[in-house]
Amino acid sequence: MTGFDTFVAVDYSARSVPSPAKPSPDSIWIAVTRGAKIDVTYHRTRSAAQCALIDLFESEIRKDRRVLTGFDFPFGYPKGFAQAMTGSHDPLALWKVLSERIEDHDDNANNRFDVAEEINQRFDAPGPFWGCPSGRSTTDLEGTKPRSPAFADRREIEEYVLRAQTCWKLFTTGSVGSQALLGIPRLHALREHFGSDLAVAPFETPDAAIVLTEIYPSLLAEEVEALRLPDEILDATQVRVVATALSNLAPDRLNAMLAEGNKNEGWIFGFGHVGELIRAAQSKPPLAPPRLQDNCFALPPGVDWTPVPQALARLKAALRPVTVPEALNISQAAGRVIALDVHAKRSNPPTANSAVDGFGFAHASITSGPQTLPLVEGRSAAGQPFVGRVPAGHAIRILTGAAIPVGVDTVVLEEDCAVAPDAVAFHGAVKPGANTRKAGEDVVEGDVIFPAGHCLRPPDLALLAATGIGEVDVFRPLRVAVLSTGDELLEAGATAAAGQIYDANRPMLAAMLAGWGYDVVDLGRQPDDPEIIRSALNRAAQDVDAILTSGGASAGDEDHISRLLRDHGSLSSWRIALKPGRPLALAQWHGVPVFGLPGNPVAALTCALLFARPALSLLAGAGWKEPLRMTVPAGFTKSKKHGRAEYPRARLTDDGRAELFKSEGSGRISGLTWAEGLVELPFEAQDITEGDPVTFLPYQGFGV
Ligand code: AMP
Ligand code: MG
Repeated sequence: MTGFDTFVAVDYSARSVPSPAKPSPDSIWIAVTRGAKIDVTYHRTRSAAQCALIDLFESEIRKDRRVLTGFDFPFGYPKGFAQAMTGSHDPLALWKVLSERIEDHDDNANNRFDVAEEINQRFDAPGPFWGCPSGRSTTDLEGTKPRSPAFADRREIEEYVLRAQTCWKLFTTGSVGSQALLGIPRLHALREHFGSDLAVAPFETPDAAIVLTEIYPSLLAEEVEALRLPDEILDATQVRVVATALSNLAPDRLNAMLAEGNKNEGWIFGFGHVGELIRAAQSKPPLAPPRLQDNCFALPPGVDWTPVPQALARLKAALRPVTVPEALNISQAAGRVIALDVHAKRSNPPTANSAVDGFGFAHASITSGPQTLPLVEGRSAAGQPFVGRVPAGHAIRILTGAAIPVGVDTVVLEEDCAVAPDAVAFHGAVKPGANTRKAGEDVVEGDVIFPAGHCLRPPDLALLAATGIGEVDVFRPLRVAVLSTGDELLEAGATAAAGQIYDANRPMLAAMLAGWGYDVVDLGRQPDDPEIIRSALNRAAQDVDAILTSGGASAGDEDHISRLLRDHGSLSSWRIALKPGRPLALAQWHGVPVFGLPGNPVAALTCALLFARPALSLLAGAGWKEPLRMTVPAGFTKSKKHGRAEYPRARLTDDGRAELFKSEGSGRISGLTWAEGLVELPFEAQDITEGDPVTFLPYQGFGV
């Protein structure tokens, strides 16, 4: 399931007349945020707000976007009420029953007190609803809380969130009961309107295009106050801050929170995660980098066969990072790219400590020659420091990793000591500071431990943890789509007819992209049909940061990819002086870079390693990545022409020479697997004999 694109927070109102024309508190306020943009609107009636929401949801669904919408009233009632009203525990059945009773007109006139009274009458014990304007009160709807009512006063969530009011209370400040009675039928209408495109959390699995959830802006009360703009109406701040928090939560955290809670009574989104919500509310909206320029791949006029280094330089200059940052717990951050320089929050080690098990003392209190020092009582162990001072001329038992006590600066190894219960003897001289580690000798608080662009490896997590960092800002993984084109292609393992071949590129490219840490979107095999390919590209462009295609990339009759990209995607066909490889098609499809790789698997791999890998790395925020180059003796003889670079498949012999695959035919896929890398032969003519130095590029250096 993908994340949400648009986030909406609604502050609801139970007014019985339209709200004033001038935007006012205690009315309906709606914040809508997408990317860095946020709109806050004021609605005078529930009916007007409902129309605005329906328009928004419909338009987002048309654009294939997902919307998470929070409403600030309870979606359910305490245990037993749904069952008593409907015969079922299903809270959504209760929604239906309430909507059949509630009348709520375009001018906000409504019958909520009558409905509450009628419901109360159904129960022998006092009915649960209470609170109404003076004069409206009857025996079946009292002005104050009834004694021993038929149902619990609060839902489970309200037992935790004590500030939240009971949903039975229909009147006076802060009451939320009327909003629920009037809001639930509106939500029910949205369910009827949008059918399976809409889901209600936590009652239903939150995987629809439109998901509704219950919010309680007061969870973030202090944050709301701190972020309130001059003259901003509090309700507007509330929806703005909540929508911002929702939009800044990492998608996996948001999905986890949506799935939480009591599935019969409903739940307040984000309960138990207020710290996370506050951080999300504070964090600046993720900077959505501008899309690349349409003509970014264009070559200057007159450029014909471009040597590989120039082509790479040009590609590097055309691209910039396109992904956005998110904060992640370090346990989930391996393989991710750091988005902002990381500074140590704590020195390593944080305090001076012992490097060995032994005895500590002040160096000034010993001389050279045999020493006997009385032992102080107690010891210093890791995690259990000695409290107090070790007097001059005394020693203390100290263990590896233990803080050096006050009065100690030197430690002698226990193997070098004779120990009695109350004294320790050893030979001087011992160097001052021996066997101790100084505070900050490894890393000092505030040091940059990782620069932006660094890709986190498992050992890096140890340094993050040791320096007090539990969460890092990393780039969201690049999403890359893979598409194979060709009428002749068949899925691996299927029964082949004459003229068909198996799609070899897609499994290879998809696995390679996943290994590079990207989210892979499989666009499948598509026939040489421009309309079909066009719609596959259209779909992908909504959802991904880059697209790799293979096949159809040259100028032949069936090379629809080239034609399509030329007509609709500002294709720039780069003729690169390279073997194996045909022209590399580079284009923009609705702002998404497309790398059109040759169909031939050998050429597809070579071009992917040499061009797509560094380019994707740059798009992903990790910077341009050069391959690892090793100079090794040639294990072959070859005469190479001037005018193009060659990358024959190669591997190292036991004695470290590069040998080449027996055939250079670019259809020989077995050569790709025989090989362990490529040899790089530059543009110029070369006569290579065995033993000459050549450049070997191991697959491993490409992360393959
Ligand atoms: P094309 O670039 O479409 O002209 O394809 C060049 C050669 O590569 C042709 O022999 C194709 O059949 C072959 N080819 C194209 N795509 C694939 C693929 N995904 N797997 C294996 N071979 C392919
Ligand atoms: Mg083809």
